[in-house]
Order: sequence, then C-alpha cells, then structure tokens
Amino acid sequence: TAAADDLLCRRRRALAASYRLFYDEPVHLVRGDGCWLFDADGERYLDAYNNVAVVGHARAEVVDAMYAQAARLNTHTRYLSEPVVEYAERLLAHFPAHLAQAIFTCTGSEANDLACRIATSWTGRAGFIVTKNAYHGTTTATAALSPSLHADTPASVRTVAAPNPREEGAEAAGRFAADVTAAAERLHADGVGFAGLIVDTILSSEGVWAEPRGLLAPAADAAHAAGGLVIADEVQAGFGRLGDGMWGFARHDLRPDLVTLGKPMGNGHPISGVIGRRDVFDAFGSRERYFNTFGGNPVSAAVGLAVLDVIERDGLVAHAGATGAHMRAELTDLASRHPGIGDVRGSGLFLAVELADPETGAPASERTARVVNEMRRERVLISATGPSGNVLKIRPPLVFDAEQSVLLSRALDDALT
Ligand code: PMP
Repeated sequence: TAAADDLLCRRRRALAASYRLFYDEPVHLVRGDGCWLFDADGERYLDAYNNVAVVGHARAEVVDAMYAQAARLNTHTRYLSEPVVEYAERLLAHFPAHLAQAIFTCTGSEANDLACRIATSWTGRAGFIVTKNAYHGTTTATAALSPSLHADTPASVRTVAAPNPREEGAEAAGRFAADVTAAAERLHADGVGFAGLIVDTILSSEGVWAEPRGLLAPAADAAHAAGGLVIADEVQAGFGRLGDGMWGFARHDLRPDLVTLGKPMGNGHPISGVIGRRDVFDAFGSRERYFNTFGGNPVSAAVGLAVLDVIERDGLVAHAGATGAHMRAELTDLASRHPGIGDVRGSGLFLAVELADPETGAPASERTARVVNEMRRERVLISATGPSGNVLKIRPPLVFDAEQSVLLSRALDDALT
C-alpha cells in the first residue's frame, strides 16, 4: 500500500541499512493477538515464526502484570526488590540443583557476553569453541563467537563443524566431541587457553538438529575434560519450545555450568539471564564488579513471572510437544508429495523443512527464499536458516493449535506447488 511504501522510505532515510527486515515485501504490523498478527490494513497473518511472543501476542496476563508493576514502581536494579527474587526462585525451580543461581540481563547477546566473561574469569583463560555457523549474539564479544555473521573470527575463537546426524549417523556425536578436544588442545598450545564451549542446544543457525537425543553430550564431556566450562545457549530452544521439557540441554543430557536465556523469557519484553553454578558465580563476584541498570528490574521480573505462570498453568510444554508432533506429521506427509523437500526435522514447536534439489541433493537456497516470500503473500509468516539458507524454520508461539498447523501446511503445500 501507499502508506507502507511511505513508511519504508522514511525507514530507509532514518534507520541504518545494516538492520534488514524480513521478506521482499516487509509486513507493516500494528497489532497482535495470540498467534495472529494484523497489518495496517487489518489483514491477518499467521505467526509461525515468533519465538518471542511465546505465550501469544498481547497475552492479557502478561500485559496486566507489566502494567500493574509499571504503575507501582520500576527502577534501577540496585535496591532490594521482591519481584526479582521471586522470579529467580520460580525460574530456578525448573533447573537441575547444580544450577542454583541467576543473573538477569536484557538481551540474549548480553547474557552470552556475560557467560563468556564469567567463564574467562573462572578458568583464567580466554579461548572459546563454537560451531562453524553459530550465532550467539551481536555485542563485540558475542559477534566474535558468531561465524554466521561473517565478521572476523579472532584467534581466541575456534570453530568446529556442528554434528550432522544425517551425514554421520551414529558417529556424529563422537566426531563432534573429538573435534572439540582437538580445538581445545590447539587453544592450550597457542597459549590462549580454553575457557569454554558455547553451544545452541537446538543448533538453529546450523540448520536445526534436535536428534538424536544426547547428540551434544559427548562434546560437553570433552569440554569439561579439557578444563573448560560448558555454556548452553537456550536463547532459542528454551522455555519448553522443544516440547519435551523446558530446556534443550536436558534433551541432550548436558551438564552445563552456565545456561543463557533470552527471547521468549519476557514474551517480547527485553529480559534475559544467565543461570549457573553457585561456586562459579561466587568466584566471579569476588574478582570482578558487576552491575546492570535494567537487568531484572521490577517490571521485567513481573513480566517474566507472568510468562512462567502461563507456561506452567496452561501446560504449554506438553502442548508444544503434542501440536508439534501433529504439525510434523503433516509436514512429513507434504514431503511424500513434494520431492523438493529433502528432510523434515526438529522437536516440539521448533520444526525445520529442508529444501534440496531432488536429483543432486544440493541445497535449494534460492527456492527456499522464494517459498518464504510466497508464504508471506499467503499471510503465513516463517523464515529460513542453515548454512545454505535452505532450511525453512517454523517456530510459532507455543499456543499454536492444530487448526493453525493445518493452515500452515496448506500454505506451504501451495507455496511449494
Ligand atoms: N543466541 C542465540 C542462539 C540466538 O538465536 C540469538 C538471537 N537470534 C541470540 C543468542 C542473541 O539474542 P539477542 O538478539 O536477544 O541479543
């Protein structure tokens, strides 16, 4: 529309070009409700991508909690305040006992940045290992841990190929672990030293690899054996999205020392955090000063608590498991009719559809981009990921239902046709 074109022109003038929008024809959203988003003309879009509005857009319980706390008090975080203590207690109840404390931050990048700083402080070493197409954030330190951004990788960061169970079968986990051991040895030999392995527990930017369970466990053991900490990045996988528990690290039998959280934590409100071992936090606190003006402020804590309430009360983890299984079956059925689908994978409501040339098996990267844009024209919003950009990423709010799943499969069927 003319109004959207005008807004796009103003955006191009006022906002830096490096921050790109989704879709050839960007969507001008003005309102959300549950899994639905509405544009300025009142057109309705099915949100099958939003890992942020995890309990649904404009969820009343969350909005009410946010308003009630904001109307009472919001402030700098260096005062004694009950909401943040209560939220930490409630959140920690979802973690194994050795992960006993929390620090709250504002974005996933900030949480990963802090986790790495803590690991450096604990080990006295500066080297980290990440997977080859990882994404861990946008601060200077985390961008260096994110080869998918195509920024320079400094000597203190070693990349190893993510395990690919489709290519390597049962050997994937072992090969990944052996690579981690070798990379840690190189960091030690270089004099940098090995501080930690940081891994996204759903390997999202690697193309979404959820299976087999335990895929990441041997690499975590290897990292510990080499003297480093294990940081589980749950920014994408966390809060029940995988449908079989709250965290991806549990799915993989990891024993992380630090866990980072973000995106869904505040249903759109910026809150994130690091959960970790008490002894590791204590050592950090005794060596370095830390404070964070906004991390865990009363409004953020109230919002986080409301999100957790809804997830628990409505059984959204089990719901994600059941709805995800349903949608996966539909997508697998689509794959039997569309030879361009190379693979359907994922877990719960974090699903991936890989598009490949049926003859050669080569990644169908351009076609994937066309499918994403075609689905947007059909008013179903998804995106693409993976090293070759040929993996459709389907990651709706956890309140997604069976009817919406059918709508999505039909739109994908049409777009592929
Ligand atoms: N880690 C992972 C795995 C992510 O996907 C992201 C965001 N896409 C981040 C960290 C960074 O989070 P944020 O954008 O909130 O800084």
